[in-house]
Amino acid sequence: MLETDILIIGGGPAGSTVAKYLSIAHVDNVLVQRNFDFRKPCGGGVRMDSFDEFEIDKALIKKRVNEITLVYKSKKIEIDVTKTPLAIVDRVEFDTALRNAAREKGTKLYEAAFVSLERFDTHVISKIKLNGEYVEIKSNYVIAADGVNSKIRKLVNGDEVSSLLTHYTDLTSKSYDSCQFHFGEEVAKRHYAWAFPHANGSNVGTVADDEDCLAKLKINLDVSEETKNFGYKIPKFENNVFYKERVFFVGDSASQVLPFTYEGIHYAMSSAKILSEIVIQKREPIEYEKEWNKKHQKRFSSLLKLQKVFLYNDFMIAVMMKLYESKYIQRQMVSFWLGDRDLDVNLAFFLRMFKRVIKIKQEVK
Ligand SMILES: Cc1cc2nc3c(=O)[nH]c(=O)nc-3n(C[C@H](O)[C@H](O)[C@H](O)COP(=O)(O)OP(=O)(O)OC[C@H]3O[C@@H](n4cnc5c(N)ncnc54)[C@H](O)[C@@H]3O)c2cc1C
Repeated sequence: MLETDILIIGGGPAGSTVAKYLSIAHVDNVLVQRNFDFRKPCGGGVRMDSFDEFEIDKALIKKRVNEITLVYKSKKIEIDVTKTPLAIVDRVEFDTALRNAAREKGTKLYEAAFVSLERFDTHVISKIKLNGEYVEIKSNYVIAADGVNSKIRKLVNGDEVSSLLTHYTDLTSKSYDSCQFHFGEEVAKRHYAWAFPHANGSNVGTVADDEDCLAKLKINLDVSEETKNFGYKIPKFENNVFYKERVFFVGDSASQVLPFTYEGIHYAMSSAKILSEIVIQKREPIEYEKEWNKKHQKRFSSLLKLQKVFLYNDFMIAVMMKLYESKYIQRQMVSFWLGDRDLDVNLAFFLRMFKRVIKIKQEVK
């Protein structure tokens, strides 16, 4: 039987980041990743400041995007994000680099599949399948970073991560200079569809749980190329789980994906950093949820409210687009998105917004 202080299951952005910080602090840890070649289905868009915040090699950036385009029917609004551009990464390269960074700092990394666990008062015994054989690992704690289909969540919490089934495809015939977000019932229902540049071409998809929306998006984007469509789950920000009886949850397995934008990479790493500090300082497990809430809860719940109101139907999307015509609103929303400023999303906020729409309409007249 192997023994370690912390066993981490899942070597995506969440698991690899927590492993790296634990190793830097000399906390003994083992990282188990099922398949080193796994390509996480993903647009690969990461805010550029993540590279400094989590000390990631910028050579992994395939493209830098300085502009976001919001699209609703024939209307397009371009938003400048030069201050904090979006980086496009290749998920196999990115995840591999994050795991290797943890290994270089001292993490023991295994290509193996987590199978089951048994919890005791003082420790956990987990079973993994390594090179076709079952191996047991005794640890003080387990960190579940095994993604949206988390097996550990089912075993420990008896539920699944609440999620939506996204539909997406890769295109070689199109490449975009900006990250496009498409709104409206026909392409995205109450979410958004995207067209992002990639290393070779682009990745387009819709968060709407409906393949017809992807077909419509391809028509709108004038895609004639025959492509294969794929589907993969993305977590909804609800029913979060942080800790249960010697098991911590982080990243997608904990539903830590930002509402409205569905960004998961940055928040998986940010949540992992918070968790690593709790473990390193040997603080009470409940402190993890408290620290997470201090840092992220307000922004997550504000964006959830904004999503519910502005993506409620096509009329509200038209109102949102009207608001985004204002450069002032664009600047405010970008700095809110980046966490540079807080936003109190309450009745007073919506009244101010609607006053602005009416003002813009009068100015246009
Ligand atoms: C179509 C789509 C597009 C997206 N686009 C973006 C985007 O552009 N930008 C963005 O920020 N986010 C995006 N996301 C979300 C983002 O991909 C996730 O939020 C992010 O990957 C979460 O990181 P994680 O480490 O928690 O989980 P994951 O990246 O899913 O990593 C979990 C890891 O655990 C491993 N694993 C699972 N089970 C086991 C097991 N039993 N044993 C061992 N290992 C196991 C998996 O192989 C995987 O490597 C997108 C998601 C989807 C579905």
